[in-house]
Amino acid sequence: MKTKIPSVDLQAEFREIHSEVTKRIQAVLAGGRYILGKEVQEFETNFARFTGVKYALGVASGSDALLLGLMAFDVRPGDEVITTSFTFISTATAIARLGAKPVFADIEPNTFNLNPNLIKNKINRRTKGIIVVHLYGHPCRMDEIMRIAKRHRLFVIEDCAQACGATFRGKQVGTFGDMGAFSFYPTKTIGAMGDAGAVIAQSKKLYEKLKSLARHGEDGTFHSYRHVRIGVNSRLDELQAAVLNVKLKHLPRWNRMRRALAKRYDQLLQQGTGLKFDLSPVLVQPTETKAAKSVYHQYTLRVQNRDELRNYLSEQGVASSVYYPLPLHLQPCFRYLRYRKGSLPQAERASREVLSLPLYPQMSLDKQKIIVSALRRFLSWLGLKSEVDNSSKQFILNKL
Ligand SMILES: *Cc1c(COP(=O)(O)O)cnc(C)c1O
Repeated sequence: MKTKIPSVDLQAEFREIHSEVTKRIQAVLAGGRYILGKEVQEFETNFARFTGVKYALGVASGSDALLLGLMAFDVRPGDEVITTSFTFISTATAIARLGAKPVFADIEPNTFNLNPNLIKNKINRRTKGIIVVHLYGHPCRMDEIMRIAKRHRLFVIEDCAQACGATFRGKQVGTFGDMGAFSFYPTKTIGAMGDAGAVIAQSKKLYEKLKSLARHGEDGTFHSYRHVRIGVNSRLDELQAAVLNVKLKHLPRWNRMRRALAKRYDQLLQQGTGLKFDLSPVLVQPTETKAAKSVYHQYTLRVQNRDELRNYLSEQGVASSVYYPLPLHLQPCFRYLRYRKGSLPQAERASREVLSLPLYPQMSLDKQKIIVSALRRFLSWLGLKSEVDNSSKQFILNKL
């Protein structure tokens, strides 16, 4: 194994910000205020400004951000919330934890995001809201989704865990719906050094309710010990906020680098195999729709023989990832919802075909070239597969 190429490289990121982060953390440690101090305050102010909303609230994780959002809309047993099946588990478990029913709609094959037309079919009297997910950093079709939500008076929570900084028609994700939920898990486009998250909102009333819910339902004054609703404990802490304050300044540049790397993957892949086989049926590159500006949290291909490719890349020292191998409607924990195999064909197909290539802002051109040539070798072999026997296949592989 000559080279080792990881999916993400947080050490390389840390090298860029080492002195800034260390200084801030030292100051927090020495300052003695570890909960709800000035780092959190600064982050909330700057994060609201960054996304272009009035209010931002730091919370303990992206999963909590979703849960708090649903609690703020009083989601309870008997309610239904429509969401995508092709996402991380916590998008849907947040709904289930409140005793409500997650209702899964299928995705669009090109963006892997919720298909607005299929949301419509799932709406009934019990439907209270929609959680959209901007998967892999690519924004959903928010204009259509908001039209549907307004017509049926549904709340909309945007799960922006993978898409911090992405825009749709020039506007940041998280600002279309009633609320945006963000995760700062270390590998997200902006990550803390532990668990962290945030919610953003335009409405003061909603913000204050979210804040109260995250502080055990307190009446608005911290440590008043007067509780007006049943809440939870979910706070962003000073150390994580200190890290995020440093990283937020770098985020626009890092997101530009992600986009540049994605473009370069596009170009390298389009250069073809140099062989006479047409590989387009076996590989589909990610698309970016016209109104959307993705932050490429993932650069995700669709490939036939996905698992074989993944093994081959791994043998070549190239890491790759599958987000997600099992759609949520088929997860054991949601068996009680009684979805059958085949009920959401696009999500199921995506889970068999997706493969994310390594992508992080500090990645070099050399690494991308190594990855793409390994991919080409495999694809050429696929093209040849039907026509030659195993020994010649190996011979050809060695030559490529
Ligand atoms: C990461 C992620 C979450 C959960 O965030 P945590 O901070 O890990 O709780 C939720 N939804 C999506 C789409 C995610 O990618």
